[in-house]
Amino acid sequence: MSEFDNLYLCPVCDNVGPLNPDDLTCDKCDFKSCYVARHINEGTRKFWIQKEESLGNWRFEKRFSTMMKNVIPDDKELIKIFSKSVKELFRTFQQNKNNLRDIFPNYTRDYKRTTGRRERGWKGKGPGAKSITMQKQSSLRGIIYEGAMNKFCEEHELFEPIRIPVPYYDDKRELQTDYEPDFWFNFNGQQIPVEFKTYEKTKMVKSNFIRGIKQSRKYGHKSAITHNNPKTYSAIIVCCPEERKFSCAIIDDKVKHM
Ligand SMILES: [Zn+2]
Repeated sequence: MSEFDNLYLCPVCDNVGPLNPDDLTCDKCDFKSCYVARHINEGTRKFWIQKEESLGNWRFEKRFSTMMKNVIPDDKELIKIFSKSVKELFRTFQQNKNNLRDIFPNYTRDYKRTTGRRERGWKGKGPGAKSITMQKQSSLRGIIYEGAMNKFCEEHELFEPIRIPVPYYDDKRELQTDYEPDFWFNFNGQQIPVEFKTYEKTKMVKSNFIRGIKQSRKYGHKSAITHNNPKTYSAIIVCCPEERKFSCAIIDDKVKHM
């Protein structure tokens, strides 16, 4: 156990503090369902900081959008503004390439240890304990880049980071908390869930997009119930930091015919 192993992380205000037994309440903002914090390996963090400082500019990769061309919605204005906004996010990234020491996160959520705490503290009642184990296991690279993107989204007028799971009722009318897209894209009153994916070198290819696309469609359908998204649109942003490529698409159910 190191000095970093007994901390909590508040998803709402990013506060990190000493872990109390059986209580995951944030000392700063009073949010009740914090996570046990997992310290992000300093070597990995430094590795990506140095990459960003030394590698070239991010480039929009056309291959992905060409691939998605026949399965995107007909709303041309939406597609145009979305692509433009994603390019702006990566431009902000570019402009901050020497500030990433302060932008890349130091902590992430330790889902496994959180589940144990919540089950003890809440006696298994309430949302969070049961479905927390179903959440995605992202790579450290994914966590680091998503943390940065979250900050850039906060500064963008059309993007909004999603900090805590969105509660919803399943078919059996049970409250679930396993639904947490990365961001909302807010456009003309519509709220479209966005899935952000990073890929390692040479892995930004069609066969690897399928998982992200499926996940994105699930969120599209759920958001039609929880938010204003009647057409069940969902969005995906993909990037490969080492190859400096990024791309994006808004999709609907047509994607099944891809
Ligand atoms: Zn807080």
